[in-house]
Amino acid sequence: MPSVVAPVTNGTTKPYKVLVVGGSYAGLTSALILLDLCHGRSPRLVPTETPVSTQQIPVEVTIVDERDGFFHLIGTPVALASEEAAPKFWKKFSDIPALKTAPGLRCVHGSVESIDCGRKAAKIVKHGSVKSYEETYDFLVVASGLRRVWPTVPQSRTEKEYLKEALDHIKLVESADKGVVVVGGGAVGIEMAAEIKEHFPTLDVKLIHSRGRLLSAEDLPDDFAEAAATLLGEVGVDVVLGQRVTKTRELAPTLQELTLSNGKTLQASIVISAISRITSTSSFLPGSALDKEGYVKVSSNMNLLPEIPNHTHHYAAGDIVRWSGIKRAGAAMHMGQMAARNIHQRMLNDLGLLRAGKEMKFTELTPVPPMMGLSVGHLGACYSPDEGTKSGEDIRKLFFGDDMGFSICWNYMRLGEEFGL
Ligand SMILES: Cc1cc2nc3c(=O)[nH]c(=O)nc-3n(C[C@H](O)[C@H](O)[C@H](O)COP(=O)(O)OP(=O)(O)OC[C@H]3O[C@@H](n4cnc5c(N)ncnc54)[C@H](O)[C@@H]3O)c2cc1C
Repeated sequence: MPSVVAPVTNGTTKPYKVLVVGGSYAGLTSALILLDLCHGRSPRLVPTETPVSTQQIPVEVTIVDERDGFFHLIGTPVALASEEAAPKFWKKFSDIPALKTAPGLRCVHGSVESIDCGRKAAKIVKHGSVKSYEETYDFLVVASGLRRVWPTVPQSRTEKEYLKEALDHIKLVESADKGVVVVGGGAVGIEMAAEIKEHFPTLDVKLIHSRGRLLSAEDLPDDFAEAAATLLGEVGVDVVLGQRVTKTRELAPTLQELTLSNGKTLQASIVISAISRITSTSSFLPGSALDKEGYVKVSSNMNLLPEIPNHTHHYAAGDIVRWSGIKRAGAAMHMGQMAARNIHQRMLNDLGLLRAGKEMKFTELTPVPPMMGLSVGHLGACYSPDEGTKSGEDIRKLFFGDDMGFSICWNYMRLGEEFGL
């Protein structure tokens, strides 16, 4: 295959440098698909697609992540309830076959502190260090997601710490002889309560939600919320709706007393807050790139908006992006793929490699309607505008398999396969 190199202004030639912030669903997808395309291959999510170009484009991709591995975030409710499952959901980057063998791919365990879009330079602090260093790039993909509090998400930065964090929590839950109360009936609270009950069937598990219906923060129909409540009942979780927890008092180290808005009190060994307190991770970007909640403003081709210097070389994908629809891993992977395809188009154009008479063709993101797949212990529910609400054991299996969707995501991104040449 013909090989080309990217011309640069200093008169030398060198590979394109691509920096990806965040090595999860969106970041890994964009990094690996860009490498697929630059090696003249079909994008891994669509292996049957004819390659856009058979030209090889030299590229160096650096993924920076605060964690030392890919954490399957979707699996958190099971990871924090099952000693057996927890280790499966964290895979160190250095152990992932696709990353280990991808030519020109490097993973840095560290945090991006700031981005200078004008100079195309990032300040990075390596894990365990206090000093930052600078890394320049030709293209940037911001895929650093959202920050969620414990115990919605493990806070560890290494696999070793994560295993301890998860196992300590599981031990605590296991010994909760006066029961567990989960506060917050969004998707995370529902899944957590159900998994605790499923793994520790003798425990009394309550889910308390302040509104009259579950999933009240999401633009989802009532019949989906009702299906979720029914499934919770079937797995043995006691659902309390329309009550706020107004006070929590520690009676003993493992005994809490909760007061509800109707004045009633109840006791539990553990109270788990699943009230979504989400913040964006985007503080390293210039303020003009963000909306007031910190989400990155993008155009439909995943570019930052034109007011950002070099905006055609800056992309964002995944949860961090301001876009319609409920934040989902599927959407994150889709956006990661789009960012990669559109960067590749720019590279082909820069290098004069587009077929004669062809112009750059960008993949455009369309509005995403609200949809959700929900795991409720061994049961599940799903909703999409086309299919409506469905629920049952078969839905759980379809959406999550036997491992909370780990294998589905792992295989979809082909993380277990060597890159090959
Ligand atoms: C409990 C729970 C259950 C869920 N269940 C489902 C489900 O069933 N189905 C579904 O589709 N979605 C589900 N989601 C949502 C899904 O997990 C997210 O939509 C998805 O993780 C978004 O992927 P992402 O790649 O954009 O970001 P993330 O997965 O959040 O990854 C961002 C990465 O960036 C890194 N990072 C952050 N800041 C920096 C920085 N400054 N420098 C370097 N690295 C940084 C982080 O360490 C992380 O690895 C669930 C979420 C939670 C919390």
